[in-house]
Amino acid sequence: MTETGGSPDRAVRARPTLLHGATLVTSLDPPHVLHGDLLVGDGRIVAVGDGAADPSAEEIDCAGCLVIPGNVCAHHHLYSTLARGMPYTLEPPRNFVEILQRVWWRLDRALDEDSNRSSALAGGADALLAGTTTIVDHHASPNAIEGSLDVLADALESLGVRSVLGYEVTDRDGPERASAGVEENRRFLKGTRPLARGMVGAHASFTLSDDTLSACVEAARDGETGIHVHVAEDAADEADSRARYGRGVVQRLADAGAMDERSLLAHCIHLEEDELEIVRDSSATAVHNPRSNMNNAVGHAPLGSFSRLALGTDGIGGDMFEEAKTGFWRAREAGDAGGPEWALERLAESARFAGRMYWEPLLGRLEPTAPADLVVLEYPHPTPITDENLAGHWVFGLSSRMVRDVMVAGAWTVRDRRLTRVDEEGLAASAAEQAMRLWDRLADIDVHPFQPAG
Ligand SMILES: [Zn+2]
Repeated sequence: MTETGGSPDRAVRARPTLLHGATLVTSLDPPHVLHGDLLVGDGRIVAVGDGAADPSAEEIDCAGCLVIPGNVCAHHHLYSTLARGMPYTLEPPRNFVEILQRVWWRLDRALDEDSNRSSALAGGADALLAGTTTIVDHHASPNAIEGSLDVLADALESLGVRSVLGYEVTDRDGPERASAGVEENRRFLKGTRPLARGMVGAHASFTLSDDTLSACVEAARDGETGIHVHVAEDAADEADSRARYGRGVVQRLADAGAMDERSLLAHCIHLEEDELEIVRDSSATAVHNPRSNMNNAVGHAPLGSFSRLALGTDGIGGDMFEEAKTGFWRAREAGDAGGPEWALERLAESARFAGRMYWEPLLGRLEPTAPADLVVLEYPHPTPITDENLAGHWVFGLSSRMVRDVMVAGAWTVRDRRLTRVDEEGLAASAAEQAMRLWDRLADIDVHPFQPAG
């Protein structure tokens, strides 16, 4: 085999690609737009604008299109994909803890390997088709822990989407499952994959003993990665930590060594000023999940208090256009968004976090040498697009219905609104079948008895 040899398929994929005649969003923060061509080769952006030319390249007509960096979802739960529309016959939950006890901690116990795979495939497809090229996931399936992260990674790599995966460690299902969760994170972190990376997932302070939290921190340290944990999503988390440990959640995490620049803190709603200061000083990334917060009525995060604030869906699909817009409007209502550039800054922060996980500081930008993760939008804009007004177009004009093509690491994963690698109809049929199996099992699972203190 020669250096450039390999299968014919590989040779075709290695051919450079020229996106011709587009409006290119090369950066979200600060916003930067230019009109011209973009050349991709060997998985990376080779040239942008005037220098982008290669007679051997496959040319893709992008006239009238807006080409943007792929969106990153910084907090997802793909395991919730098959929960959409599931029957619910118990008493309605009255608060956040009851939502967990009656919905999510029943669903996760019903998951097995097949439903995990199906959830990842259906959720990953949903994200890609919406222009999301990286998913940071927090996975839970207490009756199918070992190997679950590889099941997810295989499914997501088969679609061609990037993922940063962690298993949600918790004590709520007993010590064996807590250890198995830590072990699953450790096991996954030892592997190497083209598109997937690992973090150590931890549920939340109120379901973690000191020993289990320490085991998570140790696993993250050994795996040279960060902790991905829910923080003060509800006041119950903060109250539990103060009652059991005499300090707030963030102080507890800091004391355990869980706060550094690789830490990913989902929600961060009910934090006191001294804890917000620890978050800022540690350079950890907080993840705002506005639609989930509104849906669970857990409160509005202090958005202006973070130096790094990314954006996630918390399992409400993979559409970051939807999340960014809804978050912007909610923040406007609360008076803490400023202008529409708020939405671009959140998406840019999500990409910067993912970039740290991949050791790719240019992830989320369309610049030479950056990974070629991009989205082609059919966007017939009624007004000119400039650096100054890109944010306004984003919030008031763009949506995932405009996504025509998606490229991840230089390979097309969506072309002309269809997945390129997976049969969409087959995937949907199999997801529906798995959903019925899952819902049947769920009917026999009781309300989870775990209660926070405080
Ligand atoms: Zn979450």
